[in-house]
Amino acid sequence: MSRHLVLADVHSNLEALDAVLRDARTCPGGFDDVWCAGDVVGYGPFPEECIARLREVEALCVAGNHDVGATGQLELSWFNDEAAAACRWTSDHLTCEAQQFLLRLPQSLHVGSFLMVHGSPRDPVREYVTSVQTANALAAFCNARHCIVGHTHCPAAYCMDLSVSHPAVEGAVLCLERGRFLLNPGAVGQPRDGDPRAAYGVFDDDAHMFEFHRVEYDVTATSSAILARGLPKALAMRLHCGY
Ligand code: ZN
Repeated sequence: MSRHLVLADVHSNLEALDAVLRDARTCPGGFDDVWCAGDVVGYGPFPEECIARLREVEALCVAGNHDVGATGQLELSWFNDEAAAACRWTSDHLTCEAQQFLLRLPQSLHVGSFLMVHGSPRDPVREYVTSVQTANALAAFCNARHCIVGHTHCPAAYCMDLSVSHPAVEGAVLCLERGRFLLNPGAVGQPRDGDPRAAYGVFDDDAHMFEFHRVEYDVTATSSAILARGLPKALAMRLHCGY
């Protein structure tokens, strides 16, 4: 295995997930396996289908706050109103098998030279890493060389030991040999950095390089399905502006 497709925050957005899988397959080198840093479900209209797709590609996956929220392992009072409504909707629309898939997700996983968590190495399900200062403070909690996180829905690259932030824009390629990195590939299914396109990463472990990618998907198809399925309207609207 040398090229790993790195996903986070799919959020039941099948259009975005399929666009990412198609795009990553046609990239030079493609990918050999899939890592997913949590929040497979929540917010979006296709939880079953996204779980099925990740199972088809045998993704290695950890639990996010929405995955545990939809299976009753995190109080819904922790979420804002729209997120809680989506958690309830998701939980009502999961088969037993899909529920079991979510319940079996570990909170952290060692993949290659990475610790993969949804939030942070200190609080794997809930903590947001939004600054290099936080990433630096988390180095002591990371029992692997590097760390992959999701949760913020914004791509990010922090060097934990040098306390340096690197650009995580489309096309950025980072050599991981020079330090210990905490990386967020950005969100597949609900980007929040002002760019509505789906975000993902690819890690090449022969070259020790991490690439940041973006790909367009049919936002209208997902937002229409959100409305048709009775999820909160704001969850449809935000996809169009990437927040
Ligand atoms: Zn999320």
